[in-house]
Parts: sequence; C-alpha cells; structure tokens
Amino acid sequence: MPIHHLLFRRTFSSTVRREATYGFIGLGKMGLPMARNLRQKLPKDDTVYVYDVNTSATAAFAGEFTSGVEVAESVAEAVACSETVITMLPEPSHVASVFSAIAASNPPPPPSGAQRLFVDSSTIDIRTSLSTSRLVASPAIAGAFVDAPVSGGVVGASAGTLAFLVGCPPELLERVEGVLAHMGSRILHCGKPGAGLAGKLANNYVLAISNIAVAEAMNLGLKLGLDSKVLKQVINSSSGRCWASEVNNPVDNEAKGFAGGFGTPLMLKDLRLAVKAAQESGARLEMAERAEGVYQQVVEKEGVKDFSVVYKWLKEAK
Ligand code: NAD
Repeated sequence: MPIHHLLFRRTFSSTVRREATYGFIGLGKMGLPMARNLRQKLPKDDTVYVYDVNTSATAAFAGEFTSGVEVAESVAEAVACSETVITMLPEPSHVASVFSAIAASNPPPPPSGAQRLFVDSSTIDIRTSLSTSRLVASPAIAGAFVDAPVSGGVVGASAGTLAFLVGCPPELLERVEGVLAHMGSRILHCGKPGAGLAGKLANNYVLAISNIAVAEAMNLGLKLGLDSKVLKQVINSSSGRCWASEVNNPVDNEAKGFAGGFGTPLMLKDLRLAVKAAQESGARLEMAERAEGVYQQVVEKEGVKDFSVVYKWLKEAK
C-alpha cells in the first residue's frame, strides 16, 4: 500500500509545527541501530521511512515501533516522502545504483518544500561520492549531498556515539549536524565534499596497519615467553598503545572466537579504497600491498570474523 504523507499537523499551541520526514536506506549492521537511534530521538510526530532490499530487516524494524515508522516499497518511495535521506550501504556499487534509481524516479520536491538533503554514511571511494554529489545536484534530483562516513562500529552505532566525518559546504553544516546529532556524539567537519571520506580512508589505513602490527607483536611476545596479560599491559602503558592493542586486542577477542566486530571483508574493502585514493592523489603507501595480501589471505582462511583474527592466522601460519 502506498505511503500517505502528512504535511502539517496542528500542535496543542496555536503555532503550527511542521512534521519532519526522514528516509533511511540500508538497515544492515550499522544502519539498523542508527535508524533506531534516529527514530527514538526524533519528536514523535516525525516520520522515518525505511527501505532495504532485505524486506525482513525493514519489517523487523517497523515492528519495534508503534508509530512514526513507515516501510517504503522502493527507494523512490522512501525519497519522495522525505526531506532528509540517509544512506548506509555496503559498497560504492550499491550507492551508485541506489542514486541512479533515485534520479530515474525524478522525485517530487519534499513534503516541506525545503531542498532535499542526502547524507551518505557508507564508506565508499571519493570519486563515486563526488559523482553522486553531482547527480544529486542535477535537475533530476535537485538536492544537496553530503558525505558523512562514520567511525565507532556497531557498538558506537547502537550507543548513538558514532563519530561522523563530514564533507560538505559550510552553509549545509548546521542542518547536517541537526540530523547527525541523533545518531552520534562527535561531528567533525573535514572540509569540502569528499573530505569526510578522505578522513575516513586515511584513518582506516592506520587501522589496517596497526591491527597487523599488534597481532604480530602479541604473537612475538607470547613466543618469547611473555604472559599475554603482561604483554598487553606493557604495550598499553607504552608507545605501542593504539586502538587495536587497547580496545580491540586480539588476545581478548580470541576468547570470543573473533565474533562480531569490524569484519575482515570490510577491512579489506576499506584498505583497497585507501589504495585507490592514494593512486588517484599520488600519495605513496609503502605498507599497503603487504597489508592487502594479509587481509586477502585472512578473508580466505578465516572468513567473516572480527579483523583482529589476523592474530590467529599469524599464529597458525607455517
Ligand atoms: P551491511 O552489509 O550489514 O548492511 C548494508 C545493508 O544495505 C544491508 O541490509 C543490505 O540489504 C542493504 N542494501 C544493499 N543494497 C541495497 C539497495 N540497493 N537498496 C537498499 N538496501 C540495500 O553493512 P554495514 O556493516 O551496515 O556497513 C555499511 C557501511 O558502513 C559500509 O560501507 C561499511 O564499510 C561502513 N562501516 C561499517 C562499520 C561496521 O563495523 N560494520 C563501521 C564503520 C563503517
């Protein structure tokens, strides 16, 4: 059944408050808790229109709320009903195909008449993001597009404490912050369009390398006879301390079978995106090729696990 959109509703006072309408596309591991926080923190009269190719994800989400959530039957419908649209999709190809479907649907102006704002929080390459931004600005969509990838993982998405790395013109920032504050606790304006992704890819390059270094160092220390707790304490009290050693230590994760967390294929994807960005910008990356080989082999041998499973792979390597 098509969704009816309500434009205005009278509140108890004599003023007229316009309902805000949001589209959320991609209710996966990250998108689901983000959409949940958005819905929970919005005024109850606002509506969140959700869409995912996985219809059981949207049905389950809608089942969590008695009102204020509508399941859209298509991307086009989610967009047509909303003045702000958030996308949280896996890879560049998904973002490109969703936005070409939006352009093909030639969406009507949003219910409020304001310029429609698209916030893409997917981690994708800068080139795809910029071409999507141009498509959104074209007459077919006539909206504004912002890249706002996140840091903080599923834990941060669930707690509403994500860091958003935002690339947008300064005049859009206030509006963007108003949306993202429902899902995160830090909003870093990195610069012009594409800058949020530049920050994200640079950060995740550090993560890719430091995770391997911690795995190697823990393996080395244990082979030298150190107790794992002692070694962890040494590194985390010394200059080797980093997120991979302190928060996501592989020895701790081993006890949980490396379940959940930041998946090995996502790490490989982000590393490849950083390599592509480096090639395009002429930045030299010395460690990238080696690291890519490691993650490729880890994905093949260990499958989808927390990326600290590199430690297990190293320990078992002949
Ligand atoms: P996911 O695969 O769990 O979820 C993606 C969702 O998008 C799925 O529900 C899928 O059905 C849906 N989808 C795919 N194609 C679609 C389409 N055409 N239309 C509508 N829905 C579609 O991925 P995730 O872990 O939620 O990650 C999403 C993005 O966030 C990725 O770019 C990832 O790199 C980034 N990210 C993930 C994490 C993490 O810890 N998982 C952390 C930071 C950033």
